[in-house]
Amino acid sequence: MYDVVVVGGGPSGATAALELVRSGHKVALLDREGRIKPCGGAVPPRLVTDFDIPDSEIVARINTARMISPTQRQVDIPIENGYVGMVDREFFDAFLRKRAADAGAEYIVGTFTAIERDANGTHVIYRDKGSSDTKRLTTKLIIGADGARSNVARAEVPGGDTIPYVIAYHEIIEAPEPTPGYDPMRCDVIYDGTISPDFYGWVFPHGKSASVGMGTGLDGVDLKKATAELRVASGLEHCKTIRREGAPIPLKPLDKWDNGRDVVLAGDAAGVVAPSSGEGIYYAMVGGQVAATAASACLNSGRARDLTLARKLFMREHKQVFRVLGAMQNAYYRSDARRERFVSLCHDVDVQRLTFEAYMNKKLVKARPMAHLKIGIKNLAHLTGLVSETRI
Ligand SMILES: Cc1cc2nc3c(=O)[nH]c(=O)nc-3n(C[C@H](O)[C@H](O)[C@H](O)COP(=O)(O)OP(=O)(O)OC[C@H]3O[C@@H](n4cnc5c(N)ncnc54)[C@H](O)[C@@H]3O)c2cc1C
Repeated sequence: MYDVVVVGGGPSGATAALELVRSGHKVALLDREGRIKPCGGAVPPRLVTDFDIPDSEIVARINTARMISPTQRQVDIPIENGYVGMVDREFFDAFLRKRAADAGAEYIVGTFTAIERDANGTHVIYRDKGSSDTKRLTTKLIIGADGARSNVARAEVPGGDTIPYVIAYHEIIEAPEPTPGYDPMRCDVIYDGTISPDFYGWVFPHGKSASVGMGTGLDGVDLKKATAELRVASGLEHCKTIRREGAPIPLKPLDKWDNGRDVVLAGDAAGVVAPSSGEGIYYAMVGGQVAATAASACLNSGRARDLTLARKLFMREHKQVFRVLGAMQNAYYRSDARRERFVSLCHDVDVQRLTFEAYMNKKLVKARPMAHLKIGIKNLAHLTGLVSETRI
């Protein structure tokens, strides 16, 4: 009998398993392995410090973000007092799983298939790698951390089968030598309707390799063609392609993360990715942490309603940032005219500072009320078209 079986060993599941063994619980961590998670790999410094990530996992430290508009206007934002880190998910996820296993979680390679319940308790059913035979793990609680389109969420939590998604696609390429168009210390974010009509494209350096990709929630967009065009526009079309891959990014946190009984969700499975940026790794790890806190509280008290703590704790800390980012996406990702205005707004030094401080530290900075007021007025002026792009 386990206290908790964690289904999925990505950033959310591995973090949940680690937290739970550290608080003295008997934990199994089940992951199917065999596929590197498609991901740009950008992480904030707050993740590195909060989750004690060693330097060796950070394959690049980015010091400039270049915003590119539909008319190819470029705004370079220096990242002051910090950096954007890059992780390679092939090694990062394996590191997180090993850390949980070394701390005492039982790591099991297998594919989750179902949850069954009987008089003896709750059972997680899974298939061994390369076999059709099923096995079972008997447990008090389950954390569903099996990513976007989570099978645990679909089976157990209302709305788990209807989370809206953006599909993101990227190509991992061999990084070229630095050129004026490619700087291994700079990430490019491309706001251009021909690359993505409703999200954005990116070039993220990863040391010896780089991730080039885009996302969209619209049907009928040819993601491979858009990425090929982005590679040409960035001068990266001749670089060797190492992998091509895509996956969904959830767009909206579920209203409920638990089933009121014995299951709680974490990370992409709960629909938790920041609007506008599509940033999910940090929030998945926080999701794993709060799911572990909720599971631990439930195990100690015997009250199933303590599982609701996971969502409450997460939202207390991050709801406001999600709201602001959601409003930004609604306002600026709708047309090329709006994207042009958005990149224009990025010229403003206060916008640059506030955006990157919020990204790096995961807090909306309250220190400079006049800067907020100015940005608010500019925002409004841009959206209502009162300010022409050239006057900024
Ligand atoms: C193309 C792309 C680019 C992205 N870029 C970034 C970025 O630059 N920065 C950022 O912060 N976020 C980015 N994201 C989002 C980020 O990757 C996710 O939000 C994050 O990985 C979520 O972590 P997770 O642990 O919840 O889920 P996942 O990382 O998806 O982990 C789920 C785990 O569950 C396992 N699993 C799934 N089903 C089963 C099953 N049936 N049985 C057993 N195991 C199972 C999988 O093997 C996997 O290990 C990107 C996403 C995409 C698709």
